Amino acid sequence: MTMRGVLRPLSGLVIRCFKRVEAFADWITGAAGPVFVGLCWTLIGLGGIIFFDVVVRDLSWFTTLLLSPILFIIPANLYGQYFLVCVTPPGYPSPRALALSPNKPVHSRRDSWLVHSPRSVWSPERWGMTRRNTRPLTGEGNVNVTPAPQGRVRRCRKCDGPKPERTHHCSVCKRCILLMDHHCPWINGCVGLHNQRHFVLFMAWLSFATWVVSLMGYSRFWDSFDFREPWPGVSPRIAYTLLYVLSLAIGFCVPVLLLWHLYMVSKGETSIESHDNAYLETRAKAEGLIYLNPYDLGKKRNLELFFNIGSGGYPKRTLLLPLTIPPWSNGWSYPRRQLPLEPHLKPTMHLHAPELADGLISSPSAENGMLQSRYVMGDGGDLTDDEEGGGGWMDD
Ligand SMILES: [Zn+2]
Ligand SMILES: [Zn+2]
Repeated sequence: MTMRGVLRPLSGLVIRCFKRVEAFADWITGAAGPVFVGLCWTLIGLGGIIFFDVVVRDLSWFTTLLLSPILFIIPANLYGQYFLVCVTPPGYPSPRALALSPNKPVHSRRDSWLVHSPRSVWSPERWGMTRRNTRPLTGEGNVNVTPAPQGRVRRCRKCDGPKPERTHHCSVCKRCILLMDHHCPWINGCVGLHNQRHFVLFMAWLSFATWVVSLMGYSRFWDSFDFREPWPGVSPRIAYTLLYVLSLAIGFCVPVLLLWHLYMVSKGETSIESHDNAYLETRAKAEGLIYLNPYDLGKKRNLELFFNIGSGGYPKRTLLLPLTIPPWSNGWSYPRRQLPLEPHLKPTMHLHAPELADGLISSPSAENGMLQSRYVMGDGGDLTDDEEGGGGWMDD
């Protein structure tokens, strides 16, 4: 028996085993989801009750009045944003009608969250906050933007449905997710196009909440060890001690994650794309080129579009309330930035763009016969194709 004859079936067996383990891990993640969500509700719920019971109870009426905006806005967002990130589906590419025409009937109660209803109590319109006139999308500064292309749509190899650009298949949810960021057990679902805003805002308000507990509850933390001190609350001292320690830990960890997410948002990328872009950046750099993310329309503009505020979006004060705001894109295609023109570069010093990263980076400015550019850019359609060749195109 040859080496090849032994290794081939053996490696096949190992790969099948790995696939089994992966499928099992996905199953565990899915099955544990409701437990995580229950745990999170319990922790933030009890945390709020204990804080009001021990710390707020102690405040004078004047201080309470002074702090009332904080004491109202933080819990409203903490519970509101968490509720919304859990109930809003991340957005799916099928049925297509749902994404493109909000007037079509919805298929399930859960999917109804995907259609923005101005009459809902969660909608900003209900509270007098409306979207400003939609102007043509522009980039920031000198970033020129090409409109979202209406091109061919890929087919998902796993669920056989349409797979528009920036869509990824989630092996836990077992379906394709528009602008997938990651699967999150803490919300028992994926973070994607429709609920990512709530996800980031929840992290922000959770950070504020833990800082308020850490600052305002500091002296009571030491009292909770001193049994000679009278204890104001109904909740036991040990519960308060645990809440305080947990707040310190969360107040350190969550802001780190929040900043990381905001950083990626400001670069116009999702968690998944961040890996691709980091890889392509390194490859381009090795060739003496600068890699540009096609979806990066400028820091401020990316952040505005993510939260759907600012020019063409909703008022900024919508960030302060748990409101459902539709995403700025329908999730089927996205505008791209253009390669910057560099007239100051002499043709003699041009740098070729060889077949970088196995063809993932398109060759710059070669087609318009202009000067060669130092910049290279990924092609969204190819970047999305993460599954060993993918499942081809929908219209094939
Ligand atoms: Zn899929
Ligand atoms: Zn998922």
